[in-house]
Amino acid sequence: MMVTDPEPLEKGVDMSVDTPRMSACATSPRVYESGEFHRFEASGREFLYLVPAGAIFELDDASRAVLELVRDGRVSHNLLMDRVAERGVPASEAEELIAELYQSRAIISHDTIPDPPQNPPADFPLQTLVLNLTNQCNLSCQYCYEFGEDKIATPEGKKKFMDFETAQQSVAFLLEQSAGRHGVHITFFGGETLMNFPLLKQV
Ligand code: SF4
Repeated sequence: MMVTDPEPLEKGVDMSVDTPRMSACATSPRVYESGEFHRFEASGREFLYLVPAGAIFELDDASRAVLELVRDGRVSHNLLMDRVAERGVPASEAEELIAELYQSRAIISHDTIPDPPQNPPADFPLQTLVLNLTNQCNLSCQYCYEFGEDKIATPEGKKKFMDFETAQQSVAFLLEQSAGRHGVHITFFGGETLMNFPLLKQV
């Protein structure tokens, strides 16, 4: 099974996300409400998955307090400051925390302008092909979709190994559709891809 790089896991707030654009009234006292995110726990620690940024970060006590406060409605900046200060956080750091939560859109305000919808580019040549050579595997990791109750990777009646013709057509399609690219990538995906090693070598 191919495992993609995990999202960066950070303490505090991920500052790499876009800053919400401000309207002319950005200097007026803000009233905050909850942004779009999902909270979850792992190994006894609490995390936040920020939907707009696709980022994950760990919650500390002060940021948890802010999110609890905005959960049920709109909250003034001053009230947020007070709640963070109750955790022994100095005022300058509290301002910084609230600003970071706002910039990451964990909390939003009336002057948070949503991103406009984007049209897909007119010309977008392919760059990467993922060939699922096989879902067969000679291991049996407990978390694997292949070895769960559903065995969704190898449904009854379906072929278990990619054949040469399918691979050839796929590579031809990639080359045909990648005009203008300086290079292309082929990823071998499984299952255990080496269980179809002859095809891998042919590709
Ligand atoms: S059983 Fe095989 S395919 Fe499944 S996760 Fe483990 S190594 Fe990957």
